[in-house]
Amino acid sequence: MSDKKQLPTWDLEAIYPTTKAWEEDFAKLKGLAEACLAFKGKLAKSAKTLRDCYEAMDAYGRLCEKVYVYASMKSDENTLDSENRGRVGRIESLFAELAPCFAWFDPELLAIPSKTMDAYLKSDTLSFYKRSIQEALRGREHTLSEPEERLLGMYSEVLGAPESTFSILNDGDLTFGKLKNGAGETMELTHGTYHLFMEDADRDVRKAAFRKLYTTYKKYRNTFATTLDFAVKSHAVSANVRHFPSALNAALFGDKVPESVYRQLIETVHSRVPHLKRYLEVRRKMLKLDKLDMYDVYNPLLPSCRCHYTWEEAMKTVKAALKPMGKEYCDALELAFKQRWIDVPERKGKRSGGYSGGCYDTYPYILLNFQGTLDDVFTLAHELGHSLHSYYSRKYQPYHYHGYKIFVAEVASTTNEILLAEYLLAKTKDKDVRTYLLCHLADEIRLTIYRQTMFAEFELKIHEHAERHEPLTADLLESEYYDMNEFYHGLKADKLIGLEWARIPHMYYNFYVYKYATGMSAAIQLANRILKEGKPALDDYFGFLKAGGSRDVLDIMRGAGVDLEKPEPVAAALDYFGTIVDRLEKLC
Ligand SMILES: [Zn+2]
Repeated sequence: MSDKKQLPTWDLEAIYPTTKAWEEDFAKLKGLAEACLAFKGKLAKSAKTLRDCYEAMDAYGRLCEKVYVYASMKSDENTLDSENRGRVGRIESLFAELAPCFAWFDPELLAIPSKTMDAYLKSDTLSFYKRSIQEALRGREHTLSEPEERLLGMYSEVLGAPESTFSILNDGDLTFGKLKNGAGETMELTHGTYHLFMEDADRDVRKAAFRKLYTTYKKYRNTFATTLDFAVKSHAVSANVRHFPSALNAALFGDKVPESVYRQLIETVHSRVPHLKRYLEVRRKMLKLDKLDMYDVYNPLLPSCRCHYTWEEAMKTVKAALKPMGKEYCDALELAFKQRWIDVPERKGKRSGGYSGGCYDTYPYILLNFQGTLDDVFTLAHELGHSLHSYYSRKYQPYHYHGYKIFVAEVASTTNEILLAEYLLAKTKDKDVRTYLLCHLADEIRLTIYRQTMFAEFELKIHEHAERHEPLTADLLESEYYDMNEFYHGLKADKLIGLEWARIPHMYYNFYVYKYATGMSAAIQLANRILKEGKPALDDYFGFLKAGGSRDVLDIMRGAGVDLEKPEPVAAALDYFGTIVDRLEKLC
């Protein structure tokens, strides 16, 4: 690998050449927020007043993002620097201080008499903001009277108690003790090190870690069942008081996703469970085990892949893999390297992991901690997918509509990963590298589509229990989870896996995880379509990249050729998983 010092860093000076320039913008924020507050009580006056208010809020939001993004990325560069941390702290307290300048807006907008609002929606003055206004108005039938909303507001923190209690217990009070890893070193078992134990080549180590972790959860099973029970109850009660037919319906409302999409995802994944069982059988054979257990599904099938990449090789590989995206995409990709969007090397004090960030008025920056593994090359392709999605959304949409929703957020990044994997598979005949790549792909799809759908199904079941006023006891949760795990994996596993729900924070996120499964299914369909059809598929794909948040998520995906209201995308994604398993079966 080339000398770490020579690895490129990002160019934050393109945002602010000096910290003095940042201070000057920071000082403007309060005035911009107060300019928004000046509209309070006046929205029903005229269409122009409402438009001016939207414009004032956009001006504030836009500068806020720039000021915040610089502060936080500067801090990620070196988290040990107190001046960097100080800037983030200052802007966060300013946000809290200025929140009342905006809190009045939604209630006042919804309170505009319908006659006035009808006239507003027809006026040219407000045509640009029509979509935003209509989005807000959708919520009207689920908004209560002002005193009721005030009461709910006062209780909102209390409603978060189950999740807060779960977090404190799970991340704070709970300890799991120490354990020897495969290298004979004694290590503390924590949430952070659990995955290292699960990846250990020594099965006894994996089994010991698994049993130690879940035995601890078993001790607190009733407490965890109670926090989850009340979290789910609070979702059900909130949905009920806001006149939604169910908690699921309420949770999907914001994205305009019909319940059928959620239920159909579960059904379609059920129909493709045999592929997963075949994959686990490949695993069992390759690990030379008589019987696979849930502590045998995370360890790499090959100790490590021999591939090692310099930064230059990584760039070249990703560029070549993304060639099917066409010239326009590849030109934008060049900008990422030329304009120095990416902070590549690991450094002391630098934030770990990787992300794609930036905002409307900056480059779509990327933070990496590049060490030259094949996984790092996948991370580069993934983050570039996010960044180019942001790049096109910001370039083709006005500020107000550029932001894309979580529902589509992982699509572009995953599409790039699929293209990279297929490119590398087409290029290499080396059996070990092929096995590594196929397992990498298979595991990503298994963990994102099968596992997240299993969570989504469990979430649905427990919410339905709550809606029938049945308490979620530890016994009920354990037996339902165990049976579901057995159904998906086809394994009579260690009974302790029945406690897995107890440690998953996403169970508290209110029907969030299904988006991982639909997003990856869409990405697989898009990548395969691009490889097969070329130009027409690319034209549709660019429509998605450039759409930002200007349309509804299901419409955007439909425009790109993926109709998530139909079972086909998920079915096709899992049949693609089936072809990966076919390829693996031939190798082992
Ligand atoms: Zn991502």
